[in-house]
Amino acid sequence: MFRPIRDDASNAAVALEALKLDRFADELDLTQVRIDQATEFAVAQIRRQTTQGEGRRACLDCGDAIPLQRQRHVPNAIRCIGCQDLYERRRMGSLRC
Ligand SMILES: [Zn+2]
Repeated sequence: MFRPIRDDASNAAVALEALKLDRFADELDLTQVRIDQATEFAVAQIRRQTTQGEGRRACLDCGDAIPLQRQRHVPNAIRCIGCQDLYERRRMGSLRC
């Protein structure tokens, strides 16, 4: 049976493109797995940092009462939301080069 060479070349090119797409899809899957693992690790680390220690009823910085809702959501809170925000902004500012 006769098959034109051009058809064979075309089929080979199509097969090669399909293979490249498969490999690209595999690389994307692997990248997604790595992103998921890194995210999971970061979330676990933050969760560990924010759930350690005991909270306070009064803010460490201003002395105002820490609202019950905040105490429930962040059991180890030692500052009111305003002071915590200020504290984190200062801390981030001091970390910049
Ligand atoms: Zn405060």
